[in-house]
Amino acid sequence: MATPVLEVRDLAKHFNLAREGLSAGRRTVRAVDGVSFAIAAGETLGLVGESGCGKSTVGRMIMRLIDPSAGTVTLDGTDVTKLSRARMRAFRPRLQMIFQDPYASLNPRMTAAAIVGEPLLVHGVARGAELRERVAALFARVGLRPDQMALYPNQFSGGQRQRLSIARALALGPRLIVADEPVSALDVSIQAQVVNLLADLQDEHGLAYLFIAHDLAVVRTISHRVAVMYLGRIVELAPTEDLFNAPRHPYTQALLSAVPVPDPSRRGAKRVLPQGELPSPIAPPPGCHFHPRCPHAVERCRSEVPALRTLADGRAAACHLLD
Ligand code: SF4
Repeated sequence: MATPVLEVRDLAKHFNLAREGLSAGRRTVRAVDGVSFAIAAGETLGLVGESGCGKSTVGRMIMRLIDPSAGTVTLDGTDVTKLSRARMRAFRPRLQMIFQDPYASLNPRMTAAAIVGEPLLVHGVARGAELRERVAALFARVGLRPDQMALYPNQFSGGQRQRLSIARALALGPRLIVADEPVSALDVSIQAQVVNLLADLQDEHGLAYLFIAHDLAVVRTISHRVAVMYLGRIVELAPTEDLFNAPRHPYTQALLSAVPVPDPSRRGAKRVLPQGELPSPIAPPPGCHFHPRCPHAVERCRSEVPALRTLADGRAAACHLLD
């Protein structure tokens, strides 16, 4: 890989829960437990997994919305986890986030133009006529009309609101955008438009994306590589088509077989649904977290954590059977 824009090393987030009784010990949720990956300029890494697997927590730690318990997040050679609040503020333009619900992240009392222009104003990049010009250019680039600049967020459709938040994210010329379920609240036809817009913007600006989503079809469309998380750990990381055509980790196989596959050649493929419920991250199973649900589990899986290793075909997976 070319020099990565983003490098995440051994990232962890542990939350301490209240004791349940006077004699009870402290309980810890290992929401993210040693996650590592890198993303190059112009690359999209999809991050998938069941609800509660820790994927959104990874995104929030990269953005410094929450502080990690351990690990590093290096953007263009700078570990953002070590930056003071003041230095982080200066660094913030390089890192932007797009949320699932743009309505919640857009100030309802500000006009669309003020929302998109705010980062430029706050960081002292432009004001007055230049600010208006830049905002108009951003509106045009994301497919919004000039007459919509005076409207308020509640006067936009869901797809238009997401375009608005993309325009705001682009304003300061970011290097990395963390997109957390950016299209899951939109109609399918609108989803495709927003995904295409994100792909075009990536080509134009060489943006790196971390695309967090539970919808595997969307992830497949936009991602160059995909990382699969299970209970706080990455279990497989592979080029997108390798992962979707031939998943190697038993959990990835189960995750993919649980969704309808549009590829006709794979329609008859055997479904290998994971057995049982997703265990609680408060008390994850020892060894391989997936062992109680894995049809291939052996004794070693119950006690020994499988490391994420690079396999002969270049992908990485964490499974004793693939060592
Ligand atoms: S390490 Fe064992 S339990 Fe875990 S996925 Fe591999 S075979 Fe299954």
